[in-house]
Amino acid sequence: MASFSLGGALRGMFARRTIDDETWTDLEDALIGADFGPDVTDQIVEELRGKVARFRTTDPKDLQRMLRETIEERLARLDPTLTLSARPAVVLVVGVNGVGKTTTIGKFAKFLTNYGRTVVVGAADTFRAAAVEQLATWAERAGAQVVRPQQAGQDPASVAFQTVEKAQRDGIEIVLIDTAGRLQTKSGLMDELGKVRRVVEKLEPVAEVLLVLDATTGQNGLNQAEAFVQHAGVTGLVLTKLDGSAKGGFVLAVQEKTGIPIKLIGQGEGIGDLTGFSPSAFAQQLVG
Ligand code: GDP
Repeated sequence: MASFSLGGALRGMFARRTIDDETWTDLEDALIGADFGPDVTDQIVEELRGKVARFRTTDPKDLQRMLRETIEERLARLDPTLTLSARPAVVLVVGVNGVGKTTTIGKFAKFLTNYGRTVVVGAADTFRAAAVEQLATWAERAGAQVVRPQQAGQDPASVAFQTVEKAQRDGIEIVLIDTAGRLQTKSGLMDELGKVRRVVEKLEPVAEVLLVLDATTGQNGLNQAEAFVQHAGVTGLVLTKLDGSAKGGFVLAVQEKTGIPIKLIGQGEGIGDLTGFSPSAFAQQLVG
């Protein structure tokens, strides 16, 4: 069972004979413990109290099903489909260092090449030489091409431009552009992302801006998300490290807080550990 399952926290509750006051306290504790956050937790508990009353049920199994349905319905309010039909389809991948951005790009490249797409990765995080090498290694493993900076510190926007140019020239279908993630200077970072976007758009419209977030970071992750959503034109979220976390509720909390759909989830460090986001599969895995 995946570690973001609520199973452990809820098992006792669902195993009880009847729904009682303790059930509601346990449910609330389980949702808070899984990082749904206080607002979403209150809303879910209220909604379920209403449903339980309407259906006149006292069976905890019904409550489990209703919880799964409620989470699925709320997750499904936004469309998780990636828009990658342009040729080339240009994807900017943004996020703070350490969240798993490089790994995600490698996995995403593999995900796409598995579907027969051709991919080029642009290493526009030009200040971290080690990051460029790491990205190149991942891209090669994924069967993607790579455009690297010609020298350390080259303007990230020019690397992004060259990557899109290469895709146009060679008929490569998908362009994934890694971007810098130094948070110390937030406005500097947002300006840099804005410039990358403007320069890329001289050649092609940007199809997706994917924000990578570490699902284990809770409120800190929500704050990061808001800054990028306000300034970087984010179109989709990628949540990483869901394998190492019992905090699956973050998924719903961050989607509702930002109003941006989750499009991909990372559940491990291996190249195959990235999947498209499915509200029903996720709710099933979370609630059982
Ligand atoms: P970046 O600085 O954002 O580019 O982060 P990296 O891609 O270098 O990843 C930072 C660390 O997180 C590495 O040790 C990765 O192996 C790890 N990581 C990335 N994605 C996942 C994931 O989905 N699950 C787990 N368990 N680890 C991950």
